[in-house]
Amino acid sequence: MAILSFKGGVHPFEGKSLSKERPIEDYIPKGEIVIPLSQHIGALAVPVVKVGDRVLVNQKIGELSGFISSNIHSSVSGIVKKIEPRLVTAGNKVLSVVIENDNLYEECTVSDFRKPEEMTAEDKLELIKEAGVVGMGGAGFPAHVKLSPKNKDDIDYIIVNGAECEPYLTSDYRRMMEQPEYLVEGLKLVLSMFKKAKGIIAIEDNKLDAAKKLKELVKNETDIEVKVVYTKYPQGGERALIYAVTRRKVNSTMLPADVNCIVHNVDTIFSIRKAIVEKKPLIDRIVTVTGDAINQPQNYRVRIGTNMAELVDAAGGFKNQPEKIISGGPMMGTAIYDLNMPITKGSSSILCLTKDEVRASEPGNCINCGRCVSVCPGRVVPARLAIFAEQGDKEAFEKNYGMECCECGCCSYICPAKRNLTQSIKSMRKDILADRRKK
Ligand code: SF4
Ligand code: SF4
Repeated sequence: MAILSFKGGVHPFEGKSLSKERPIEDYIPKGEIVIPLSQHIGALAVPVVKVGDRVLVNQKIGELSGFISSNIHSSVSGIVKKIEPRLVTAGNKVLSVVIENDNLYEECTVSDFRKPEEMTAEDKLELIKEAGVVGMGGAGFPAHVKLSPKNKDDIDYIIVNGAECEPYLTSDYRRMMEQPEYLVEGLKLVLSMFKKAKGIIAIEDNKLDAAKKLKELVKNETDIEVKVVYTKYPQGGERALIYAVTRRKVNSTMLPADVNCIVHNVDTIFSIRKAIVEKKPLIDRIVTVTGDAINQPQNYRVRIGTNMAELVDAAGGFKNQPEKIISGGPMMGTAIYDLNMPITKGSSSILCLTKDEVRASEPGNCINCGRCVSVCPGRVVPARLAIFAEQGDKEAFEKNYGMECCECGCCSYICPAKRNLTQSIKSMRKDILADRRKK
């Protein structure tokens, strides 16, 4: 049988062997904790604590403020020192709650003892919303919104994205290896919220050991299937993954729910389980600290708000001077120039490289080789789109299907002239989306 995949894509250096075999280690933060009130797509949460308050672990400190928004909780116990804008990895400042950690880790008491089987789908959805669960693959879309499509009864598949196609990242892999039963439990809970949905756990074929474990666990589950997909970037992109496992096509004007699918990241499913079973909010995540500049690459369970520099120190610091530090993976992550920033719900990795593998030299002129076209999963012509973007020609950009770009970075990666294709296309898409919002 052909291995499931999509058209286009690239095979960058994997780099996963640096941290793949490193079991998850708990990291206990030392310094102050900075918790941004926006770690999600949508409206900023509104602070519900004030300077001087003592907060406990799991206590709500930010209240969602709209349909697309998310609650924010404290990951430590301590005193609220400041509520002020702080720098985040996107390069902007976001209103944040700064907490002086008292290192006691005193938790809020849980008073809800209902078992999942005693709950309705609405009860479960409310717990997910209350727990501030968002997409943890980087997008940060609130999970309770994703799980409330208009056509709820038509949803056919809940797809767990275990592809982890970005090079170097191993956080999802470690979760699947170390706590596969929680992943299956979380998926079953999500399935119980839908009338007829079946579960698919999609894993790239460079993680066959994780696939084997999960297959064994679901062998008696008639509604869950583990599907092995071809190792290729961006296999874990939502559209690419849906196509690979269901052959259904999603374009830029559609949501996965339009083809009766919902996709959730591995860590998101873990957080959903925790919200429903333990009644606890999202206050931590797995972060891979890795790259050839890092002394001891490692996967950590990290409390949200932990300082990135502390985490790099925990991994033995730098063994070589990094040329590039990225929050996330090398293909879609964000280059950062200051480690004095907090880990957020979307921080999958701190990647420290001695060489910029995606862009190692100055951009040159296009030589019309067509490679960018052949790797583009959006089936567009990146070279042409980048020219329209550089010329600011929005009409031509849209006519040439520029909005179908998923910003995967494959075109920039493959371009022998090292043109900044993705960057140009990305900023044009951003402008067009901003125009559309104004209308
Ligand atoms: S144009 Fe967009 S979708 Fe196509 S390869 Fe470039 S970044 Fe990826
Ligand atoms: S890959 Fe680069 S050089 Fe080749 S056609 Fe595309 S933009 Fe031009």
